Amino acid sequence: MRNNFVLGIGITGLQSCTVTIDTMQDFLSYDLEGLRLLMAAWDQPSWRARQISAWVWQRDAADYAAMTDLPASLRERLATELPLRRAAAAERRVSRDATRKYLLRLADGVAVETVAIPGTGGGSSGSADQRLTVCVSSQAGCALGCVFCATGRAGLTRSLGAGEIAEQVRVVSEDFSRVVTNVVVMGQGEPFANYDATLGALRLLNSPEAFNIGARHLTVSTSGLIAGIARLAAEPEQFRLAVSLHAATQELRDRLMPGLRGQPLTALREALIDYRARSGRRVSLEYVLLRDVNDHESDLDALANFARATQAHVNLLPYNDTGTKGSGSLSPSARTREAAEFLRAAGIETSVRRSRGEDIAAACGQLAGSA
Ligand code: SAH
Ligand code: SF4
Repeated sequence: MRNNFVLGIGITGLQSCTVTIDTMQDFLSYDLEGLRLLMAAWDQPSWRARQISAWVWQRDAADYAAMTDLPASLRERLATELPLRRAAAAERRVSRDATRKYLLRLADGVAVETVAIPGTGGGSSGSADQRLTVCVSSQAGCALGCVFCATGRAGLTRSLGAGEIAEQVRVVSEDFSRVVTNVVVMGQGEPFANYDATLGALRLLNSPEAFNIGARHLTVSTSGLIAGIARLAAEPEQFRLAVSLHAATQELRDRLMPGLRGQPLTALREALIDYRARSGRRVSLEYVLLRDVNDHESDLDALANFARATQAHVNLLPYNDTGTKGSGSLSPSARTREAAEFLRAAGIETSVRRSRGEDIAAACGQLAGSA
């Protein structure tokens, strides 16, 4: 299995920074470029942003007072105009399989969930798998309302800032006393409904001034917002992209993912073909197998055609029960293995995701905001 897809769950560009300076006054709403622009506006030397980032992201400074190599006047101004309010873990649960789920409280009291998935090596020296994957949330809640997803049912509270997304990774790294090796933006929320902050967070995670995680170890998962896919295709970094497909026929997709009705499959397919051509990178299509809903041969045939057209890899996800009510009950398909064989026989590179953290409701789609 590909290391970026151990568990399904879920970044700021130049454009966002110009906005964040005017409208936000909290350090965690900023990305690196925003901080650089702010320091320039305050007539500070160009390396100041780097120095402050290192304190916040690498040295875990609790506040500006700890940043002893900054001039006292700057520390005071920062404390007043750009308060640094770290997220705190209000709750932490540990799964039988060592997955940890955190409920993090942000400065305004909003809570988001973050999941940490350690490699099977358990951290002892000499063991093969020293990975530590963090699944971060890009929004508190989600507005898109996919019927199989607990986050979607709760609705959207608000989008997160770039630093708030990166902060989730810092908290996990501190808790494990280990370096985080992979990040997936697959937690609560739709990252491309919060594109600038998501990209800013990915850049923070990628930057040697902050987390220094290789771009290929950073994955963003979208439900298929076409404008975001087009923007990511134009970014210079090699970030990975996963797309939650779940149905390759329009009627079924509209039913399962009602928030995506304005983003037709034909346009999604074109966007992915274009993404592949411009970035040279292979996309992963996520498909949660639902019994008697999207696991018929005709559904898989449509999926194979979609994957072939977009040269994508398919990642089959077991359905994690979220107690769906109202839109008819959903249950996991018993046909995962057959489905994988069917797709492989059709020439599609296919993997099956092993669910982690199910016993603590930390698996895909189970993040509802109440650890
Ligand atoms: N909003 C983004 C990222 C967060 S959802 C997206 O939809 O891609 C992360 C992944 O978990 C997506 O692939 C989503 O479809 C999947 N997921 C949601 N609910 C699930 C469930 N109940 N069981 C299994 N996977 C689920
Ligand atoms: Fe939102 Fe993704 Fe859940 Fe759909 S699957 S409701 S887009 S978080």
